[in-house]
Parts: sequence; C-alpha cells; structure tokens
Amino acid sequence: MREFFTFEDCIAHHGGIMSRAELLRVGWTSHDVRIGVQYGWLHRLCRGWYGSVDLPAAVRASWAHGGPLACVSALEYLGAISSAGIEAPPHVCRPSRGHRLRYSGPAVVHWSDADANSGDRWCVSLEAALRQAALCAPERMPESTRPGGEPTQWSF
Ligand SMILES: [Zn+2]
Repeated sequence: MREFFTFEDCIAHHGGIMSRAELLRVGWTSHDVRIGVQYGWLHRLCRGWYGSVDLPAAVRASWAHGGPLACVSALEYLGAISSAGIEAPPHVCRPSRGHRLRYSGPAVVHWSDADANSGDRWCVSLEAALRQAALCAPERMPESTRPGGEPTQWSF
C-alpha cells in the first residue's frame, strides 16, 4: 500500500524531484513508473529522475543534465544576479562520480559531491554558488562579493 494516490501528489510532497529508487521505496512499482511515463502522469527530467509538473523551468533545464542549478544559474535562480537570458546554457552541479548525460544539449557542469549536496534538490546553496561563480564566471559575480572589495567608483 503506497502513501500517495498519484505521482504528482507524491513528488510534490517530496519536494518536486524524486529518483526512480525513491519512487520504488515509497511503494510504486517499476511497472507503475513505466506506465506513468508512457501516459504522461510522470514527468521524466533525465534518466532515473522525475519531477512535478510545476517545477520551475530553470530547475527543469538543470535537471535535464542530471543535477541542481549551480554557479551563475543558481545565483540567477536565488535572485543574487540578473539573468543572462533564457538561451544561456545552464550551470549544473553533478556528483563527482557521475557521467555527462548524452543528448542533453549544452551545459556547464560543476562536478562536486559536496556542492551537489549543499543546498536542496533544486539548487546548490548560495555559498556554494558564489564559490563556483567566483572561479567560473567572475565577471558575473555580484559586485559586493567580488574579490578585492568595493568596485572602483568613477567621479566626473
Ligand atoms: Zn559555472
């Protein structure tokens, strides 16, 4: 007897993203999962991972590459910097043992177990994102966090 009647209720209750193993653990069968995907009741993010229908587009785009938003994509999502535009490839965090997924389009992948687990399923922590972005895209860092302190002020 499983806890939830629909995949959507179940995944929403578990934070919007669940792995296949987690779905099986709460009582769904592999047959349920297969039929769910086939009939569109269960939305696959990438191999072995499923998301609720109301997952933010940025989080869905990141999970197409198998992990939470990272680096500048995480900073955009958290509202720390402005967006580079919807066409920009997502920066994604993946555990270091992972493999790059095929057919998932362009992305910047940050490989780190610690960072992948630093925030929640959707997004790495702000601290991790700032640290990643300082190395990966320093030009996009919020000014107050740039190394070297205050930005130069020009007076005319
Ligand atoms: Zn990056």
